[in-house]
Amino acid sequence: MPPTVIVTGGAGFIGSHFLCHMAQKYPSVRFVCFDALTYAANLGSLECIWNKNNFFFLKGDISDPLEVNDAFSEYKPDCVVNFAAESHVDRSIESASPFFKTNFQGTGVLMDACLTHGVKRFHQVSTDEVYGDLPLGENARSFTESSLLCPSSPYAATKAAADLLLLSYIRTYGLPATITRCANNFGPWQYPEKLIPLMVFKAIRNEPLPVYGNGQNERDWIHVLDHVYAIEKVLLSGKIGEIYNVGASCEKKNIDIVKEILRILDKPATLISFVADRKGHDLKYSVDAGKLKTELGWKIQYPFETEFEKTVLWYKSFFASHVPPAKPVA
Ligand code: NAD
Repeated sequence: MPPTVIVTGGAGFIGSHFLCHMAQKYPSVRFVCFDALTYAANLGSLECIWNKNNFFFLKGDISDPLEVNDAFSEYKPDCVVNFAAESHVDRSIESASPFFKTNFQGTGVLMDACLTHGVKRFHQVSTDEVYGDLPLGENARSFTESSLLCPSSPYAATKAAADLLLLSYIRTYGLPATITRCANNFGPWQYPEKLIPLMVFKAIRNEPLPVYGNGQNERDWIHVLDHVYAIEKVLLSGKIGEIYNVGASCEKKNIDIVKEILRILDKPATLISFVADRKGHDLKYSVDAGKLKTELGWKIQYPFETEFEKTVLWYKSFFASHVPPAKPVA
């Protein structure tokens, strides 16, 4: 039986990039995408590997123990990589319960199944948002893997809760697991409720671009493929039980991201419309990825300076040729 990796949430933004990269690079490994196909999934993002004979797709919910155990019994995974999540902070503020169910309970169901089925590696794709925020400006130190968890939104709290549960399973049951905590990703195939695709979607229609508060909030932006390569490195050479931060040290103010999108699309800055701030809005995210770089030799290969414009133009052409979602959330 060839080695098998189950990738949960593999039809979403980052999981689909991971699957396309891995299934092409490792043809003798079977990759099984296990995804509930929520609004955020897009099977078009898996087109490049859909017909490959080492790729399999299974519709299922990680919070359903029967569906998860059936999938594990059928495919007998050696490794499970968990991308499945409710991932939009604004939705978690409107209604947190789907976030408890998938991000916390679902991750717990996967961990139990890994123990039951003797999975050799469980990898949890977590977020820098578990650390909470930093003050604006240059002086604050970036979060390290040993920084306190201090999440601000229900989304981040459910991700932090899953990380803590996983750390307890590693210690109590010896579950062979690793965690990555990554900064904000940019790249193709993100659902257009997130900042970059949403702003492109609105700008090309000459609609107002809603910017929270005064737009000064800062995020560290990393290309999705650099995140994918970081997870690959951790799977190949990361130490069991360890957490690795993934970031690009590329902090940008939201307003500067929006202005850059307008510049690339040749649209006027008058489209910018400041709106009431998000509740509990984190000021700044910044993680120190030094451990990943020094211990595993990871480095940025897709810098913001060369990749951001390509991403914006990808969305411009995507929205020109695809029927957009009925109502992207602002
Ligand atoms: P996404 O919202 O684009 O995709 C999530 C995927 O999970 C979708 O395909 C969805 O159908 C699937 N899913 C949701 N609930 C499920 C369930 N109960 N069972 C099975 N599948 C389910 O998310 P993303 O942006 O690709 O993020 C992937 C992971 O990376 C998440 O865990 C997120 O917390 C983490 N992360 C994201 C970012 C970012 O910038 N997007 C940064 C750091 C970490």
